[in-house]
Amino acid sequence: MIFDKDQRELAQKIEEDISISKWKNWKWHIKHSIKDIDNFEKLTGISFSEEERTHLEKTTEKFPLSITPYYLSLINPENYRNDPVFRQAFPDPRELITCKYDMNDPLAEDSDSPVELITHRYPDRVLFHISNVCSMYCRHCTRKRKVGDVDYIPAPKKIKKALEYIRENIEIRDVLLSGGDPLMLSDKNLEWILGELRNIPHVEIIRLGSRMPVVLPYRITHELVEILKKYHPIWFNTHFNHPGEITASSRAALAKLADAGFPLGNQTVLLAEVNDCPRIIKRLVQLLVQNRVRPYYMYQCDLSEGLEHFRTPVSKGIEIMETLRGHTSGFAIPTFVVDAPGGGGKIPINPNYLVSWSVNKVILRNYEGIITSYREPDNYNNICCDLKCSECDLDLNVDPAQEVVPIGLEKLLTDHDETITLIPEDCYRLTRREEENNED
Ligand SMILES: *Cc1c(COP(=O)(O)O)cnc(C)c1O
Repeated sequence: MIFDKDQRELAQKIEEDISISKWKNWKWHIKHSIKDIDNFEKLTGISFSEEERTHLEKTTEKFPLSITPYYLSLINPENYRNDPVFRQAFPDPRELITCKYDMNDPLAEDSDSPVELITHRYPDRVLFHISNVCSMYCRHCTRKRKVGDVDYIPAPKKIKKALEYIRENIEIRDVLLSGGDPLMLSDKNLEWILGELRNIPHVEIIRLGSRMPVVLPYRITHELVEILKKYHPIWFNTHFNHPGEITASSRAALAKLADAGFPLGNQTVLLAEVNDCPRIIKRLVQLLVQNRVRPYYMYQCDLSEGLEHFRTPVSKGIEIMETLRGHTSGFAIPTFVVDAPGGGGKIPINPNYLVSWSVNKVILRNYEGIITSYREPDNYNNICCDLKCSECDLDLNVDPAQEVVPIGLEKLLTDHDETITLIPEDCYRLTRREEENNED
């Protein structure tokens, strides 16, 4: 294994007699994370004016700074202001500009928390925040409000309570270990949680969401992978935002995970001045699939406080989707989503491909702009579903009508629900109608 020249020079500034094995030790990076402007200047040779420093320091007072030496080594000091890694890791005084649409907890994760550490938003799956620590503080973090709280790994008592919640709610079949970064936990701690989860019969899959392959790929050790793979099926999601983050070290980490059988996914956030460009995203997704990572979501940036300068219009995302579908491998294309403010969950957004529709024809357009028609079947036998699965001709080997209570639009689509309209709770017109009726 060779020591990259630039990385060695950086490492030697931190510790004179650094060896390659020390550099590849993830704990060394945590211990030597860059947490102040002085140290950043010293290690990169970049220097800021007095005035800039004042603004930067004010910014880090509110939103602290932490960069792993590895991630720092990816910054190009020659052109750092346009560097995507610099922009994701280094404070920007614009973070202090609050905009009136900013929200403290835009995804209402705290309100959807039935018990500490758990966000339960969707019917069959939960987020389990098993750490509030990260090795690198992303400037675009949606949980920015919590960054800078005292870092901690939750006490076993709290974790046990959250596990209890999962155990008691049998509809939970998918548990997403998140944080912070769950891989900040020690292997031993992680193994304990995985073991507990695997002992719950209704937990079918476990997901790990970690940015370690991007910001500290040395965390993906042989030992870690050996532990994780005992608890399959585990799906692993990471967070690359720019092709420049895909380095020899991160490729090696991804290969270890893929070889051990974890289906790999990636979540990208669209960020102004970082990756808000169709060519950058296309390159990124193509590199990801080369490394056996399936692009999963591309997020519209959330309305969290301090992120205004990162936000792009939704149309930018649609433009990017337009340049992907048809133009590159289908499995390289992520789903573009807006995570609804207020906790509505992820809403997928696509360019429109359905142009028009008649009783027997659908008019569609493809990525080249060709407008085409699809003839609907003349004799489709639409089975009216009354939920009597035992009398149904379809040979579906499923439990009869497990989910009998339709949710949302499902109510309008199913035959076994009488609802014909969904009405917002405070619909003015209907409230007025009701009031008029009451007056009569
Ligand atoms: C994103 C998210 C999930 C997982 O959603 P998928 O669409 O299944 O990936 C679960 N819970 C919460 C609160 C989330 O934000």
